[in-house]
Amino acid sequence: MSPVSFHPPGLRFRAALLRGIRAWTTSENCLLCGERTGVWIRLCPSCRSGLESAGPGAGCPRCSGPLPCGDCDRFLGPLSGVIAPFRYRGSGGRLVRRGKLSGDYGCLSFLAGAMRRSLRARDLGSGGAPRPRLLVPVPLAGSKRRRRGFNQAEEIARFLGRRGGYGVARSALRRVRATVPQGRLAPEEREENLKGAIRPGWDAWRGACLGREILLVDDVCTSGATLRACARVLLEEAGARKVFGVCACSAKAGDTVSGEIPLQLLE
Ligand SMILES: [Zn+2]
Ligand SMILES: [Zn+2]
Repeated sequence: MSPVSFHPPGLRFRAALLRGIRAWTTSENCLLCGERTGVWIRLCPSCRSGLESAGPGAGCPRCSGPLPCGDCDRFLGPLSGVIAPFRYRGSGGRLVRRGKLSGDYGCLSFLAGAMRRSLRARDLGSGGAPRPRLLVPVPLAGSKRRRRGFNQAEEIARFLGRRGGYGVARSALRRVRATVPQGRLAPEEREENLKGAIRPGWDAWRGACLGREILLVDDVCTSGATLRACARVLLEEAGARKVFGVCACSAKAGDTVSGEIPLQLLE
């Protein structure tokens, strides 16, 4: 007879509950390849070594782009800065892809954790300016959102908000029409493609962004055109004071994930 059968049901229930909580709170398999890892370790050594840092220390301190950065001002436009912990190739891109295409919230939560650490490492409140405390996700067109069932930027913002103690204005922006995926367009066509596609949403109308420093959240930024279009609406129509972009990955045209999926198919 197994020793478990001597336990009163209460104890057995508590043991099962503890096992459940442990399985729920700890990831014991690598998020990307499924290989067993230790408790609380979410990527195996091989997948971790595929993470390419794009954050402070590795990239441009203003735009997180690769160094030397000669294009900062044009890239940022109305944005006060862009932060991205990872480069969109290797494991960084695979995490985004799994999160977005397979709805793997473990990956989105992992990315949000890395974004929070990057935000902490870079002092956005320098010179006595208040630190941004409000997150605004980049909106997805309604049709795309219905197809996917969620907006990955919004889910990342939710995780980031919960972990970093930020407020989230989920509907500060809305996309009023579907646009051609930015990755399929030439850089000069991208701004045109987005014209009038992003408008203030309910949270902006009720004044949630007025006078605030905002962190605009997205999964990947490439040319920065989407972030700039959103920032313009927040600054000019929603009354925001400053807008910083915060993305999981920064990508350069031609970045691929494990050599399989070109970036433009993922947008
Ligand atoms: Zn792995
Ligand atoms: Zn730069």
